Amino acid sequence: MHNFLPIAYFENQFVPFAEANISIATHALHYGTGAFGGLRGLPDPANPEQILLFRLDRHCQRLSHSARFMHFDLPADKIQQVIVDFIQKNQPSKPFYIRPFVYTSDLGIAPRLHNVKKDFFVYGLELGDYLSPDGVSCRISSWHRQEDRSLPLRGKISGAYITSSLAKTEAVDAGFDEAILLNAQGKVCEASGMNIFMVRNGTLYTPSMNQDILEGITRDSILTLARELGIPTEERAIDKSELFIADELFLSGTAARLTPISRVENYTFSKDRPISEKLREKLSAITENRDPDHSDWVFKIPLK
Ligand code: PMP
Repeated sequence: MHNFLPIAYFENQFVPFAEANISIATHALHYGTGAFGGLRGLPDPANPEQILLFRLDRHCQRLSHSARFMHFDLPADKIQQVIVDFIQKNQPSKPFYIRPFVYTSDLGIAPRLHNVKKDFFVYGLELGDYLSPDGVSCRISSWHRQEDRSLPLRGKISGAYITSSLAKTEAVDAGFDEAILLNAQGKVCEASGMNIFMVRNGTLYTPSMNQDILEGITRDSILTLARELGIPTEERAIDKSELFIADELFLSGTAARLTPISRVENYTFSKDRPISEKLREKLSAITENRDPDHSDWVFKIPLK
């Protein structure tokens, strides 16, 4: 059971988390017509009177775009203000994760996005490591990532996570930690809730934006940092067989941060991961406000 933050934002007000409940007849529960965000926050190690939120603006913008796919006009500024208020109400003292969610909140049936009430809520939970920071084993999933012609993959649409769930459980049932999904073209796409990176001969590769991936905010940050550190980067389609002969592989995501991959199927990888480690250290230093670079990525929310 998770430790939830005590206050939630629900139906336009702040209420105790235990009172933020929806009906079994809620439209989104039946049709997957929700969309969400996911942000990590932590008390500033150097000043516990302020909370650090990584790339809050980008997370709010992506959720606003997801809402747009759902025919719900929810400006990024409004989401950002609710999240800031949410943090000030909760006064978190440990690292946490925020889940903002937009959904069709009508009670009633028939899948559609028109003529159906939409709503927006926010809640949070304490969160440590989501995946083992020492490395994870991955199975190539028999489930493929959906195609953008079937649903808007640039949104974090809740219904789409059936594929992630099938893939993750298939992997865990087979003794692996995580799943790597290929796209409909058979190219490497991403994991159940993370983007994927590969290092070969000193170059950092990741699937390009038109490979049916989620446009991950951690992915974008890692690419930017790699370029600044002088690591050559390339965004392109990646073949499954390239993974097996990679020098380093890792996953990236808000929850997973930068998680090395120690094995894919029956191919194991060295624990010597100079590029992954360099990027991981830089990314954590920035998110923890220990590095002045990209201080504009770190939103500082005063608790008083
Ligand atoms: N892909 C999927 C399917 C995800 O759910 C996530 C997590 N949001 C990511 C990639 C990574 O995105 P981000 O770095 O923005 O958290």
